Amino acid sequence: MQLSILKEKGINCYIKDEYTITIDPLLSPAIGGMKLMVDKRQWDLATKILDASDNEFLQTIACPNCHQHTLNQVVLVQKPTGFWEKLKFRLVNGQEAEVKKYFQCGTCGFKLEELPTEE
Ligand SMILES: [Zn+2]
Repeated sequence: MQLSILKEKGINCYIKDEYTITIDPLLSPAIGGMKLMVDKRQWDLATKILDASDNEFLQTIACPNCHQHTLNQVVLVQKPTGFWEKLKFRLVNGQEAEVKKYFQCGTCGFKLEELPTEE
């Protein structure tokens, strides 16, 4: 879904799966268990588009705990300190910071790693 939104806006991207091997220095946020690979030069634009579409999308989803439509996306950026930590992050994540995303209900504070999928 995100892929088609981005492609509509003229952004180069593809979904990385376990069979994709890349040596390009691409940024790769995990989205719904998959990795969305975006050209580094288009990264800022891509995240803005995705944030906007995520927010619209979030309003349509009810909290599994209290059933209010008040889910927010929380983004945590974890930055390593020291040379070895930085090296490890580069090797594991392909970048020098780890971005963790989760969703939290504004009403009851319930936290979700993944959005519930509607049947
Ligand atoms: Zn709630």
